[in-house]
Order: sequence, then C-alpha cells, then structure tokens
Amino acid sequence: MTRPLRGLALGVALGLAVTALTLGCGGPADGWPDRPGPKVLASFPPVASIAMAVAGPDAAVLPVMSGQSPHGGEPKPSELRLLRRADLFVINGLGLDDRLATKFAGTSARPIRVVNLGESLAAKDLLDGGACEHEGHDHAAHDSGDNTDPHAWLGLKHARTYATKLAAELGQADGPHAADYEARAKAFAAKLDTLQADGVTLFKDKADRKFLPFHASMGYFAQSFGLTMIEPIQVVPGQEPSPKKLEEIVKTCLDRKVRVIAVEPQFSAQSSAKRIRDELTRRGLTDVVLVELDPLETCPAGELTGDWYEAKMRANVVALAGALK
Ligand SMILES: [Zn+2]
Repeated sequence: MTRPLRGLALGVALGLAVTALTLGCGGPADGWPDRPGPKVLASFPPVASIAMAVAGPDAAVLPVMSGQSPHGGEPKPSELRLLRRADLFVINGLGLDDRLATKFAGTSARPIRVVNLGESLAAKDLLDGGACEHEGHDHAAHDSGDNTDPHAWLGLKHARTYATKLAAELGQADGPHAADYEARAKAFAAKLDTLQADGVTLFKDKADRKFLPFHASMGYFAQSFGLTMIEPIQVVPGQEPSPKKLEEIVKTCLDRKVRVIAVEPQFSAQSSAKRIRDELTRRGLTDVVLVELDPLETCPAGELTGDWYEAKMRANVVALAGALK
C-alpha cells in the first residue's frame, strides 16, 4: 500500500495541473487507484471508455490525452509517469496515436503490452482517406503516411470489435476474471446493438441524409447509419480553410443541397462553419443548420466512465436525426 501514498505526495508536489487531470479521470492524485487487477493506460477518451466498460471493477483504466486532440497532441509528464505501473497500453492505431505507443515503449522502465485495437479490424471494414468522397486530402496530421481513416471508434461495429479485443487482452492478463471481461464486452455490444437499432429507426424516414462534417471524423459513424458525409470543412484538423476552399465547400453544398453542417465541441474556432451557413442562406438554400456532433476525441475532466461512449454516440445520433429532414 505504500506506492499510492508515495504517488499521492508526488501529485500534491506537482500541483494543480496534475491533480486536475487525475481527479478528472477518477483516480487519486498522480497515479493508479489502489485496487488489484490489471492497470490499463488508454491513449484517448473513446478507447478509455470502451476499456472501462469491459474492465468493470476488475481492472483499472486511465486515459492519457483526455483534454487534447489525438491529432498531434503530446502526453504530459504526469501521464508518462502512469507508465511506471501500467500493464497494458491501449491505442486506436490506424496512424492516429501509434506514435504514442512508440514514445511510451521508449519511456517505460518495464515492458508494457501495447494493444493496438485498429489491428483487430478487418481490412474490408476500414475506410479510406478521411472517409470523404474526394481524393487528394492532406493527411499530414496523421502519422502513418497511409490513407486509412483512423476514426474507427465512431463506427458501432468497430467499437464492438474493440470491446471484444479488449476482453481477450484483459482475460489474458487476468485469467481468473476472463469470463467477467467477456460478459461485459457482450453487454457493451448489446447496448450498441440497441443504439444501432434506435438510430436506424430515427433515420429511417429521412429523405435528406447528407451532412458536412467539421473535420473528417464522422465517416464510420455515417456508415453505421447509411448517411453521407461530404468533404470536411477542415481537411487538416485544427486548420481553418482558405477563402478559396470555403467557396468550394459552399458550391458543393449548393450543388448537392447540403443543409446540415456539423460543428465539434473540441474546436473553439468554428467561424468557418458559421460563415458557410450564412453564405448558403444568403444564396438561397433554406433551413441551413449547425448541429453539434462530437467525435469523442476529448473528454471534459470528470465525465469519463464506461457509459460515456454509448451516451455520447447516442447524443450524436439524436442530434443529427433532429437536424436531417
Ligand atoms: Zn479526428
């Protein structure tokens, strides 16, 4: 029992930032909760939430990067310290957070098992190039150089596969609870089945099934419900489009009568989305609306639980269904 106490003292010494981060994630200051079972570090919130759903009370899960975009964010020193006692490090992979695994493997003093969830997906289930309808995007924000859309956690089928993979990995690390991990992964999958069915019902009578995403995040989500995602406003996450690009987007929306524009809570500067809405309205497209869709790339402190993933996905379904006609 001495390590958590030492961790607590260190956390106090390191000050508010560390405390805010770890308290936000449910653990005591600077470290892991004092409980038996595997210690799982997860690269960012959706991966952490799915891991929490599968872990239940039998394993501890903490996220890194909860407050910043996985597109190019950097873990804090306090997050790197969690590695000292972590057993598994779970990443999405697919070129998004792979660099973290490389970095962590080089930092950790003891071997840590990297679980790459993206590798559990069949090649046929992966979308291409930001999941847009047009080729030639700048994928500089991604690490791998390949053209796979990394946002697979936003596909319900993909999230179910992630849960199954996590149950197998946790079962391997903690044999006595293998059946419990498996049962929770199945319960998680059943919840997503219900969400899928509810979404299909909500979108069933929509004649208009197109939306303009803020960044190219929602391709797998759109696929889950037979919707169409137009080329995004921000091709490189975090970079607002040029005036020329804005005009191209406006033209595309006018041509295809795209009247639902997604904004994301993660991006404060979304003036481009509002400008597009105003321009479309000025040029005669009626009922243009902004709707908030959350790609789940960050999570406010204190909100992350095993239920968070399903709740946020459900909110996305309800919001988009409310906007489409
Ligand atoms: Zn993204």
